[in-house]
Formats: sequence, C-alpha cells, structure tokens
Amino acid sequence: MVEAVRFAAANDLKVSPRGGGHHYGGAALRNGGVLLDLSALDFVEIDGEARKAKVGVGVRGDVLSQQLAAQGFAFPVGHCADVSVSGYLLNGGFGWNSGEWGAACTNVVAIEMVLADGRAILADESHYSDLFWAARGGGPGFFAVVTTYHVALHPLPAATCAWRAAFPADHAPLLADWLSAATDAAAPQTEVGCFLMSHWDSGEPAIVLRVSACGNDETEARERLSSFVSPPRRATLIGEADAVVLPFTELFKLSPMPDGKRVAADHLWASAKLGELLLAVYDIPLCSPHSTIDLVAYGGHSRVSLPNDGALSVGGGTGAGIYAMWDNAADDADNRAWVRRVDQALDAFRVGRYVGEADLTASPTRLVECFTPEALHRLERLRRKYDPAGVFFTWP
Ligand SMILES: Cc1cc2nc3c(=O)[nH]c(=O)nc-3n(C[C@H](O)[C@H](O)[C@H](O)COP(=O)(O)OP(=O)(O)OC[C@H]3O[C@@H](n4cnc5c(N)ncnc54)[C@H](O)[C@@H]3O)c2cc1C
Repeated sequence: MVEAVRFAAANDLKVSPRGGGHHYGGAALRNGGVLLDLSALDFVEIDGEARKAKVGVGVRGDVLSQQLAAQGFAFPVGHCADVSVSGYLLNGGFGWNSGEWGAACTNVVAIEMVLADGRAILADESHYSDLFWAARGGGPGFFAVVTTYHVALHPLPAATCAWRAAFPADHAPLLADWLSAATDAAAPQTEVGCFLMSHWDSGEPAIVLRVSACGNDETEARERLSSFVSPPRRATLIGEADAVVLPFTELFKLSPMPDGKRVAADHLWASAKLGELLLAVYDIPLCSPHSTIDLVAYGGHSRVSLPNDGALSVGGGTGAGIYAMWDNAADDADNRAWVRRVDQALDAFRVGRYVGEADLTASPTRLVECFTPEALHRLERLRRKYDPAGVFFTWP
C-alpha cells in the first residue's frame, strides 16, 4: 500500500481507495488516477481476552459477524451482508443493534492508515488523534488509505428477535399514529423499519414493518417487540410473520437487496416521528418495482450514540433512505427524479444527512448538511495538513 501511494504521488496520479465498491453514488469511480482495490485485505484477528479484533478493511459484514460469533462476540455491522467495513466505518456506520451499541465507529479504538506522503501510521486517541477523529465519520473522499480497523467487541447477544408485517400502502393514515406510539413505547434497543415498497407476492404498493431487537434472553428480546403486536383493527394485514427468534448472524436475511440493478439513492435524518414521515410519502407512487423508501427509527425515537470525538457529528433517531433500483438506462432520468421528489416531500423534517448514503452530487449544500459546520471546517483543515498536494480525490 505504501508503495502504491508513493508511486501515485511521484507520478502525479490521484489515488482513489475502494473498499467493497458499495457506495451508492460510485464514489470510488473517478476519471484518471489510480484505483486502489482493498478488497483482498480481508483478515480478522480476534483477541478474545482483550475483547478486541483487528479487521482488514476488505472484510464483509457477514464474514465479520460469523467469525466473531464463533468466539462469542458481535459488532454492529451494516444491515446488508456484503457491505465491507472499509467505507462503512469511515462513514460512521449505522448497523444492527446500533440502538444499543451506538454508531459502529464509536466501537473503533485505533485505525491503521497510509498517508499521502507514504507513511504508514496508527491513529488512536493518543497518536495522530486528529486523524483518528477524521476517520470516524469523514466518509468518502478521505485523505488517507485506511488498511485496518482495531475494534472493541460486544458479547454475542443471547437472543435476537424479529417481526414483519405488511399492509396496503393506502393504510398509512390508519397506521401512522399507532406506528409512532408503538415506536415511542419501545426500548431504545428496538429497531423499527417502515418500508414503502412493492409487496413481495402481489407487487402492490405496501407498507412493510420490520421490527427487531436483541436481548439478554428470548423473553427480553420478544418483550422489546411487544408494543407492535396489536396494529389498528381496521388495518388489513396483507402479510405477517410471527415474531421469530434468530441468530444475530442471520439478521442480514431481513435486508435482502436485488443484484445487478441501476441505483440512485439519498438519505436524510429527520426530526419527526415515523408516522409523520410515512404520511409525507405514502402516496408517492414507486417509480420501479424494486425501489423502496426506508423509514427507520429506534425505540423511543431515541438517537443513536455518535462518537464523543469524531467527524460523525450529525445523526438522528429517525432516518429516511430513498433507494431507486431499476434495469434500463433509458429509465435513469425518471428514477433520479423520483428520488428528488421523495427527498423534497421529506424536506420539511430534515435535520441533517448521512454522508454514507446521501447523494453528495445532488446539490452543493448536500455535504454541508452531513456535518456540523465545525466538523466540516476541521475536515478541510486536516485535508490541507495531511494531503497538501491533493494526492487523494476529494468529496464526490
Ligand atoms: C446494499 C447496501 C447496504 C448498506 N447498508 C448500510 C447500513 O446498514 N449502514 C450504513 O451505515 N451504511 C450502509 N450502506 C452504505 C455504506 O456505508 C457505504 O456504501 C460504504 O461506502 C460502503 O463501503 P465500501 O467499502 O463498499 O465503499 P466504497 O464504495 O468501496 O468506497 C466509497 C468511498 O469511501 C472511501 N473509502 C472506502 N474505503 C476506504 C479506505 N479503506 N480508505 C480510504 N478511503 C476509503 C473512498 O473515498 C471511496 O471512494 C449500505 C450500502 C449498500 C450498497
């Protein structure tokens, strides 16, 4: 890695690090320069006694979760199996059980990286603490190559429970207050996903609720879903699964993503409750069968903990991910316009955006909305300090 960065700098080539290549906007794909594919850095070294692990940036969430579980540990990996830790942790990372364990980067204790001048360094609270701050939430366009994360581990939850139910999309007015109240009544450890999507059998527009929680035992995990068991009587269920107990490592199965689609995405944090967001978007027709609007909150509409001292400085208890997924290039403009339309419908509730999923190219203000002003200024100052010659590509 050191050689690669030195070679690029010596030859006046810009560097674009790529972890898993999952960034929705394809941030790693730049014109010219050198692409550093980090996917082969896929080692996991677990120190069970210290409850820590060294994780190569190319490790996928499912692989990390399985290897940790085999030794009785867990980590708040992202919701989809194939997202690697590389960009996920650099963005901050909101993953499974983040309601309890905080944003994933709050569990990072040290970071190995290669700087623009080719130095390989370890950043933590005592060494290169400014880089340690920046790499916990700085996101795409970071000004060094991260190679290894040192992370603190959690005991594997004794039980994990999940429940799913579907209703016709036009039931939103019937469901909204109940959904907000049920979320308010739940524990902060409960994650509530309200997805506007096509029903998996009929293809009709549907509201799909997915509620999950970990607990110290099965009773506690089930209890954390209990405020959702009685939807309003007049609401017609068009699909329901009994609450199931499943291993923590299988939570990914609740978040299937289709392969090979064209994608446009955006994200915002909101001040409103889930029901209010639902009412703002339920009557916007989906632009394509695989597209979804994901409204997510934690029990009590509580905020996920952010690092005390990290670039991840904006967050919220309620988030909205807008994902258009389609097949043909001829439909690009329509799908992009749909993402803009949904974003506009939620704009009145917006308090920020997540740098890992916001479309930073949509407007010049997007980046500003992902950070506090102080954090963004500090990131830019650190970029000038550590990459004065602009070896790395900056924000997309
Ligand atoms: C299906 C799917 C599900 C997702 N689920 C979640 C989720 O649950 N929670 C969540 O928080 N996010 C989620 N995300 C967003 C995810 O955090 C980002 O897409 C993230 O960029 C993925 O990491 P990556 O390594 O694949 O990034 P890449 O696409 O490889 O890289 C994106 C950019 O990040 C920077 N970068 C990446 N790795 C490095 C590195 N090692 N050193 C320096 N710079 C680097 C580069 O600037 C690069 O251009 C999801 C994304 C997808 C596609």
